[in-house]
Amino acid sequence: MADNVTAIKGADKRKRTRSPAYPFVNLETAIAKAKQFYDKEQRNAANVGVAVTHWGYGSDSSNGAQTIAALTSFGLLQDEGIGDKRKVRLTQNALRILLDARPESKERAELIRQAALGPKIHQELWKKWGTNLPSDATLRHTLLLEWPTPFNENAVDYFIKEYRSTILYAKLLESDKVGSEVKDNGDEKADAPYIAKVGDYVQWEHNGTLGISEPKRVTGISPDGNYAYVDGQHGAVPINELLRESPPPNSQAEPDHSSLQRIQSGLRPRGGWTMIRADMSNAEKVVEFLRMHKGWWYCDACISESTAVEPTNQVNQIVRPLGETSDFDRMKNQCRRCAADRTCTRMILD
Ligand SMILES: [Zn+2]
Repeated sequence: MADNVTAIKGADKRKRTRSPAYPFVNLETAIAKAKQFYDKEQRNAANVGVAVTHWGYGSDSSNGAQTIAALTSFGLLQDEGIGDKRKVRLTQNALRILLDARPESKERAELIRQAALGPKIHQELWKKWGTNLPSDATLRHTLLLEWPTPFNENAVDYFIKEYRSTILYAKLLESDKVGSEVKDNGDEKADAPYIAKVGDYVQWEHNGTLGISEPKRVTGISPDGNYAYVDGQHGAVPINELLRESPPPNSQAEPDHSSLQRIQSGLRPRGGWTMIRADMSNAEKVVEFLRMHKGWWYCDACISESTAVEPTNQVNQIVRPLGETSDFDRMKNQCRRCAADRTCTRMILD
């Protein structure tokens, strides 16, 4: 046996140490769970035993505890207190991911990439392989036999699946300037500024707020190149305040696969998206719109513009009684579409 010390040591080590800590759920699921938490608690702290019930777990279930650990490792939850007093709340980054309703948002995309590399084991794999991840078989072999703290056989496949889906979701593989490089360089590394062109869809960000209710098309650029004319806007807008957006869904362009849409796909009604059709009653159009965007808050004016149920007062007469029912909420909130704090309505999840 003396000639086999290394093997014995390895086996012994595996017996004593568990697999390295890795997230119980992938990032996409973790963000969906953060959204469920937000729907119940908003920005407040919740006792851990209560928090896990928002995901349908018993207050002392191990799945609940592991979900909290996963969300914490992605930087979506933070905890305070210990024992029975331990509470969790959403982090600023989680709120910035969840509440960023812009169809395309560089900031949200970057926060999601950061979250993906939150778990220490993810950082280690990213550092080792980056975008050039080997085959599952090679990964498995390395993690089982060559990793400083080896994985055990029961955990390794689950972890590989979790890691792959998380970096895919965070689009880490599609970018050549993320992760360790960005972190090493600090936050100074600026992307090339976006310069709007005629025909682009844009949002106008002014003093940190969005200036137009939805992405609009650039119709012209001033001769000096400093201002842009945007469809439906009076006057010109400074070109350095324009953010690139994907075309709205009713244009014939590519569908938007932004991360928020993917988050929402978990909230999709059974049978998929439906349509607002001309032969529906006004009330049906409004309900269908809120069902299509279940969980999100919309003000009356934005519902009116989105459904063509006009005037806004018409919408108001429909949504006020809806707000009294158990399927809908109606209260002052931030409208997903115009970002204003107004009385908004939403269809409740589940
Ligand atoms: Zn609105």
